[in-house]
Amino acid sequence: MEPILSQAALFCCPLCHGAITRGDTFLRCERGHTFSLSKKGYVDFVPGARAGAYDGALFESRQRFIAGGFYVEMLQTLLGLIAQYAPTGPLLDAGCGEGSFLKALMPDPSVRLCLGLDLSRPGIQQAANGGGGWLWGVGDLARLPLQDGSIGAMVNILSPANYPEFARVLGDKGVLFKVVPGDGYLREVRALIQGQLRRNSYSSRQVQSLFAERFRLLCKQEIQKTLPLSFEQARDLIAMTPLTQGIEKERLNLTALREVTIHLHILVGQRP
Ligand SMILES: [Zn+2]
Repeated sequence: MEPILSQAALFCCPLCHGAITRGDTFLRCERGHTFSLSKKGYVDFVPGARAGAYDGALFESRQRFIAGGFYVEMLQTLLGLIAQYAPTGPLLDAGCGEGSFLKALMPDPSVRLCLGLDLSRPGIQQAANGGGGWLWGVGDLARLPLQDGSIGAMVNILSPANYPEFARVLGDKGVLFKVVPGDGYLREVRALIQGQLRRNSYSSRQVQSLFAERFRLLCKQEIQKTLPLSFEQARDLIAMTPLTQGIEKERLNLTALREVTIHLHILVGQRP
C-alpha cells in the first residue's frame, strides 16, 4: 500500500469537498470523483491540469541550486520555529515545487507526516522520485484537497499564498510559516538584468502587511547573507528564478555573477 493511500482520511475532494476513501490505485470521493495514484507514488488531485510555465529542466536547476546550501540558514531557522510553534500534526509544504525544501526540512518523514502539494506536475514528479516516505500530490492551492483543520504546520516558501484556503485547512490550532523575499533578495541578479526587467514592483513590506491582515502574526525572523557563487550555480540560479522569465538568458554575462544575496523574512502566523 502506497503511504499516501493509507492517509486517505486526511484528504477531501477538491471538487465537491466530499470525504475520500482509498482504492488500490486511487483515492475517490463519495460522489465518485477519482484521483489516480501515479506509478511514482503521488496522487493527482488536478487531473487534466495544463503543464504550466515551469518545465522539468527548471526544477532540476532549482534542486541543484538549493542543494548548494544557499538556504541552509533559512531552513534551520524555520525548523526551530516549527518545533516551537507547531510541534504536532501533519506538516504541509504548500507550493513545494520539486520538494527540495520539504526534504531538507524533514529528512526523516517517519517522525512526522509530511505532505507536499504543487500545481506543477513536473515538479511533483521530480519530488516523488526515489520514494522516501514523504507524501506528494499535484494540487491547486486555491482548492486544497485536505480536510478542514487537518494540518498542524504549513510552510509556504517563496511561493504565492491562498490565505482563505490556508486558514481552512489549518483550523484554530495550525500555524502558517511563510517565507517571503526581502528587498535585497537576489540583488545581484536584479542588477545583472536591469533594463530588461518587465516589472520591478515587488514590495516586501506590502507582502508582509497582507500577511498580518489575514493571519495573527506570532513571530518574525529575518535572514540576510551574501554568498559566493560558482559559474554553474549562477547558471542554475538564472534558469530557476522567476525574475528572468521572458528574458533572453543566453545574452546575460554570467561570469559577472560571482555572489548572491539571500535576504528572506519568515512570518509565523495563526488564524485570527
Ligand atoms: Zn468529489
